Amino acid sequence: MKAFLEQHGVKPTPNRLLIARALEKAGSPLSLLELEARVESIDKSNIFRTLNTFRKAHLVHVLEGEVVRYELCHSTHEDHDDDLHVHFYCVLCHKTICLEDTPVPPVKVPQGYRPQALSYLVKGVCPQCGG
Ligand SMILES: [Zn+2]
Ligand SMILES: [Zn+2]
Repeated sequence: MKAFLEQHGVKPTPNRLLIARALEKAGSPLSLLELEARVESIDKSNIFRTLNTFRKAHLVHVLEGEVVRYELCHSTHEDHDDDLHVHFYCVLCHKTICLEDTPVPPVKVPQGYRPQALSYLVKGVCPQCGG
């Protein structure tokens, strides 16, 4: 994890490592509140600042849904993200699930627009809830 942060030019402080590990361990995207519950030793504003640092360093994906969620980005490229996958939001259990094998379809934008982030959220019922 230390090397992962360093690769992205982020100094691996103990707090940052703790937050990155919590995201890794979760296995699915976490909201700020969910992250706070998992790293009790760090206060919310600190977590938020760290997530912002991660975001700027392209270390996390930021998923805008009913709440904003974060996950580690495992892209191996600096200039393009090869870890962009579709997410599924279950309207019954309110879980956000990574569909790792479902890549986000390419989106063409008109000239002059410079996309910085792309998230693709499908809403519905997950298999556990009887989808
Ligand atoms: Zn469900
Ligand atoms: Zn994901």
